Amino acid sequence: MIIVPEKEIAGLMTRADAYNAVEQVFASMSSGRAYNFPVIREAIGHADALYGFKSGFDRDGLALGLKSGGYWPGNEANGLTNHQSTVFLFDADTGKCRAIVGGNLLTALRTAAASAVSINHLARKDASVLGMIGAGHQSVFQLRAAVEQRSFDKIIGWNYHPEMLQRLAAVAAELGIPFEAVSLAQLGAEADVIISITSAFAPSLLDIHVRPGTHIACMGTDTKGKQELEAAVLARATVFTDEVAQAVTIGEAQHAIAAGLITQDAIHEMGAVVNGTHPGRTSPDEITVFDGTGVGLQDLAVASAVVDLAVAKGVATTVEF
Ligand code: NAD
Repeated sequence: MIIVPEKEIAGLMTRADAYNAVEQVFASMSSGRAYNFPVIREAIGHADALYGFKSGFDRDGLALGLKSGGYWPGNEANGLTNHQSTVFLFDADTGKCRAIVGGNLLTALRTAAASAVSINHLARKDASVLGMIGAGHQSVFQLRAAVEQRSFDKIIGWNYHPEMLQRLAAVAAELGIPFEAVSLAQLGAEADVIISITSAFAPSLLDIHVRPGTHIACMGTDTKGKQELEAAVLARATVFTDEVAQAVTIGEAQHAIAAGLITQDAIHEMGAVVNGTHPGRTSPDEITVFDGTGVGLQDLAVASAVVDLAVAKGVATTVEF
């Protein structure tokens, strides 16, 4: 069995590797070759923790396994990340445990890769202004992956806690792209691509803010009750997602569905665009929304890729099991 500890991931996996793994597994999901198993998530009644599993099987990549993890709110006080995850991969032919892989950085990389896939396939080719809503842990990964998809000449940002925007400004400076903190109205009026990655339970971006032609990667809503966009935005947009079943239950689409503004069959799989079975954006004025809910197959895809890289580079630790 191979072990790839958390501390090795940064030296092994590039954003390009994560992008390729996630794009490929979205395609496999849409062609029916990969599927996610039902998600388990429980409040365990200890340390205020939320704990669960995301799992699945990809017959194309032969990735079988699960990501186990959750949220321990007291961790930060002890110098640990609140979100903790570990990926377990199993041999699809024998069921033997193949690998244990640290899942914290991989989660950020695969989440950023998902929104990057959506920007690459759905944003207007001439998109030049990137709008960021949210400035937490995930936001900088999102920003770095997004700027590789289009020639952005300006980044603008809004955050509920404005002091956190420094984090985005620092990355923008490193990337050599001007950054400006703006109101939500200005963000909607100027941005061609918007990434929303907050833990909000009420919409920040309203329908009135969003202009025609915008692509929105809505990445923060991954739980029942969370919400980042006014539901009317989805009614005006062409909506794409990683997995329709998750979008309507724990994704951003849950609210538009509950309000009767859209139906489930109006939500398209991102993988269908990758496969060419859905045309994606069909006009420069179309609003596109990617409802990125985060699926277990993304975790398995990046973890499999990292195991292959660790073996190829001779840094994998192998133990008898
Ligand atoms: P974080 O705690 O580091 O940051 C939270 C962000 O939300 C901050 O920008 C904060 O200012 C903002 N925020 C908090 N309350 C708000 C409110 N009431 N209104 C608007 N904004 C508010 O979290 P993070 O690690 O950056 O994660 C952000 C979100 O992304 C979380 O909801 C997390 O569950 C989700 N997430 C999704 C995926 C996926 O695959 N889709 C993967 C990882 C994380």
